[in-house]
Amino acid sequence: MEFSSKLLERAVNEMSQLPGIGKRTALRLVLHLLKQPKEQTNGLADALQTMRSDIKFCRSCNNISDVELCEICSSSNRDETLVCVVEDIRDVMAIENTSSFKGLYHVLGGKISPMDGIGPHDLNIEPLIKKVKEGTIKELIFALSSTMEGDTTNFYIYKQIQEYNINMSTIARGISVGDELEYADEITLARSILNRVPFESSLKT
Ligand SMILES: [Zn+2]
Repeated sequence: MEFSSKLLERAVNEMSQLPGIGKRTALRLVLHLLKQPKEQTNGLADALQTMRSDIKFCRSCNNISDVELCEICSSSNRDETLVCVVEDIRDVMAIENTSSFKGLYHVLGGKISPMDGIGPHDLNIEPLIKKVKEGTIKELIFALSSTMEGDTTNFYIYKQIQEYNINMSTIARGISVGDELEYADEITLARSILNRVPFESSLKT
């Protein structure tokens, strides 16, 4: 792609670093911004910069938050003995949308995936094991997508905490195998949390 302007070229190159955005789409977006009032571009740039510099990860659940302890963890209306293990913030949002879960979350930040070079130590698993050892958690619900990586991650965590006296369950498979949680509709997702099954029985199937 030949550019008549280095400034334009730089903007297009930066934009095309985003997933799913090729050079042509990047050019279309940049040209769109050029047509809009300057304030719009400034607002976008400021939102991105401030997000990047000020955002925090909750010190308890690791969810993305504006404060040290996220709203969910600091709420007195949540059941701290019940913890739902999820991959990332999109799953927290999907489950929160169902309004049917009153426990807390633990955000792993990904799934174990040897193919992608992601091992247990790259994820937020250690703090979860520590929380279990501390003894406040009575039940863990595994709500990772039912892919091979999700199952591997569940099993790894299960092995680490098997000896502690807590219930472990996994969301019911109303969620189709291979589906990402965030795409499940609210009713299906709410039902699969309510109808969760003991983790160990899910191993035998
Ligand atoms: Zn939190």
